[in-house]
Amino acid sequence: MQRIVKNKTMDFETYTSYIKDITAKYPFAELSTCGKSHLKRELYSLSLGRGTNYVLYVGGVHGQEWLTSVLLLKFYENLCEKYAAGKELAGIPVSEMLSDRRLIIIPEINPDGIEIALKGASAADEYQDICETASKGDYSSWNANARGVDINHNFNALWDILHDMEMREGINSPAPRRYGGAHAESEDETKALIRLCKELPIRHALAFHSQGEKIYWDYGEAVPPKAYLMAKIFAAITNYKLVKNEGLASHGGFKDWFISEFSRPAFTVEVGKGINPLPITELDNIYKKLEELLCVGIIM
Ligand SMILES: [Zn+2]
Repeated sequence: MQRIVKNKTMDFETYTSYIKDITAKYPFAELSTCGKSHLKRELYSLSLGRGTNYVLYVGGVHGQEWLTSVLLLKFYENLCEKYAAGKELAGIPVSEMLSDRRLIIIPEINPDGIEIALKGASAADEYQDICETASKGDYSSWNANARGVDINHNFNALWDILHDMEMREGINSPAPRRYGGAHAESEDETKALIRLCKELPIRHALAFHSQGEKIYWDYGEAVPPKAYLMAKIFAAITNYKLVKNEGLASHGGFKDWFISEFSRPAFTVEVGKGINPLPITELDNIYKKLEELLCVGIIM
C-alpha cells in the first residue's frame, strides 16, 4: 500500500499535508489542535481509540529533533492502517490495544523551532531579529521556539532553580537552546500543552527527543512506583538505557512538570544515537527499535 508519510525531511507544509491525508484516508483518525505556536502554526493533535484512558505522545519539542515528528507520524499511520485492516502491530491486535484507550499524539509541539532549524531565520517572521541575534547565523543547533525559548526548559517544575543554573552558565537571553524564558510557562507552546494535560485524564505521557538511546523516568517525590516498572519494561524492549536528570536537564522539562503536577508517570525517550539532527536515513532503524515500545506504551 502507498505510504503517506515518507522518509524525508518534513517542513511544516509537508507535515500539514501528511496529517490531512492520513485523517482523510482513515475516517476513525481524529484531528484537532491544542493551540497555536507563537507564529500561529497549528499545534496539531491526532487521536485514535474511543476509550476513557488517555495516553499522550509528544514529539518535535526541539527544532533539531524533527526526526521525532516523522517517527510519531509514521507510527500513527501504521497504527491506523492495521486498525482499519483488523491486524496486529508489534504482535498486538490494534483493536485490543485501543479497547479502552484513547491515544493522543502531538507530533510537533514546536513547529516554529523545527521550521527555523530547517530553513533559518527567514522562517521566524516577526521574530527574525531575535533568531538572528541568538543564533549568530548558525542554525545547526537550533532547538528553541521562534522567541529563542527552549520549551523543555519553560515548564513550572523548579523553574527558578533551573533559571539560576542557566544564568550561571551565561544563558540569560534568547538562545538556540537551553534558555528557559523570562518566567515559567511564558510560551504559547508550553501553555497549550499544559492546558491539554489539565483538560484530559491522561494516565501517562511520553515525550520523544533525540538522541542517546536513553529513557528518563524519575523526578522528585511525586514519581509513582509504577513509573520505574514501566521504564524497565521500555528499556527491556528497546535496549535503551535508564537514566536520571542531571545538569541543565534537571528541572523545567515537560516530563518533570507532568510528574510533579499529577503524580502520574511521564518519560523522556531520547531516540537514536549520533549527532543532531539525526539523518533521515536513520529513521527506519530507529522506528524498528521503538515500534513495540510505542504499542506497549498505549496498553500500560
Ligand atoms: Zn530534545
